[in-house]
Amino acid sequence: MSQMGLISAIISSKRSGGLKKADYTALQKKRLIKLVVYAQKHSPYYRTLYSGLNVKNCALTDLPPTNKVHLMKHFDEWLTDRNIELNIVQDFFADTNNIGSKLHGKYLVYTTSGSTGNPSVVLADKTTFNVAAAISALRAFARKSDLREFMRRGKKTAGLYAVDGFYLASGSMKYNQRRMPWRKNQLAIDVLAPIPEIVRALNEFQPAMLGSYPSMLELLLPEQNAGRLHISPVLIMPGGEYLREDLRKDLAQAFGCHVQTNYSCTEAGIIACECEHGRLHINEDWCIVEAVDENNQPVPNGTQGKKTLITNLANYTQPFVRYELNDRTIIHEEPCICGNPFRWLEIEGRTDEVLDFGDGVRVAPMSLFALLKPIHEIKRYQIIQHGENRLEIRLNTDDKQAAFEKAKNALSGYLESVHADVEIYLSGDEPQIHPKSGKFRAVYSVE
Ligand SMILES: [Zn+2]
Repeated sequence: MSQMGLISAIISSKRSGGLKKADYTALQKKRLIKLVVYAQKHSPYYRTLYSGLNVKNCALTDLPPTNKVHLMKHFDEWLTDRNIELNIVQDFFADTNNIGSKLHGKYLVYTTSGSTGNPSVVLADKTTFNVAAAISALRAFARKSDLREFMRRGKKTAGLYAVDGFYLASGSMKYNQRRMPWRKNQLAIDVLAPIPEIVRALNEFQPAMLGSYPSMLELLLPEQNAGRLHISPVLIMPGGEYLREDLRKDLAQAFGCHVQTNYSCTEAGIIACECEHGRLHINEDWCIVEAVDENNQPVPNGTQGKKTLITNLANYTQPFVRYELNDRTIIHEEPCICGNPFRWLEIEGRTDEVLDFGDGVRVAPMSLFALLKPIHEIKRYQIIQHGENRLEIRLNTDDKQAAFEKAKNALSGYLESVHADVEIYLSGDEPQIHPKSGKFRAVYSVE
């Protein structure tokens, strides 16, 4: 498969960004057929999945949906590059010096973060990376005036992420730094650093754009409001978690700038970009989004699905076709006043919460995730805060006691460093869905 360069990706995306519905639907269909024909030919997994199907001439809904658990179980049959196996990727992951470098000189590899506890492993080839870069360049800024000001300020970008992991945000940033080490306009700050250290680094760097998880940005609010942090970014871009509207307003007010988000995931890249009217327009040229019910049947536009299926039209190495995400989305067909022809969507909020340990000590769920992620024995976890200072740890693992000891060490070391006095104990229960919401929350508190 010939790979797409950055310039071609930009030209192509610029052109398709102005297409009318009938035209981008046709483009989507053409790209879908090309992808599934390729997948059927080169991926043993898809060959089996599509056996008996004439993929050249079928509707999207004829293709069976896929999901993380099944695909990860069959990882070695999944990839179209038959030289890549899961154990090769895992060996690569074992050395953190590899963050931001390419596996076999060809693929950036990422693992997913977040609340579900069962990570995916995702390879991005040149096309995947360049399409994401093109979408960022063309569609990331809702307001053109912000983009101009960002350019004027030398595109100085600070990202607060879990820097010691193979995650999409930090991995891509590291890749760019490796490629262009002379450029000093990107700063990655470890989300696990103590707040005063983060504040010092941001004050010194003075970013024009600041990206992080909403829950982390929330922790910077009191710092900026008290004047300890004094930065004036052009744009704040929260991502990776649901952004609450009240937090968006508070951030905009405290930092005096526009705050916008997008809808992205490691498997599908940037699924939707926000316009100046706050609507998340699907990047229909590179991604197919379906809102579906519990049986993966599409629901009508304007109604909320129970799950979302995404198809990444820019990844031929590791095809994600009708891949299940647990987000509940509503797809809107009515035109948006911004003039963007692409449909837009709403996502129901994800529900992990910031834990408050009293005396101003607050910890973001992503920080806890970053601490537990390196403990490979843990298949799935759940952290429940009881009152101010007791943490119940629920683990799904083969050896609970051993995994718990490691988890406890990691968590207590961090919590001590932020001066939270916390008792951590192993639960007799397995991680489970929330009895009221019916959703899985990895981190939450109860009275
Ligand atoms: Zn719009």
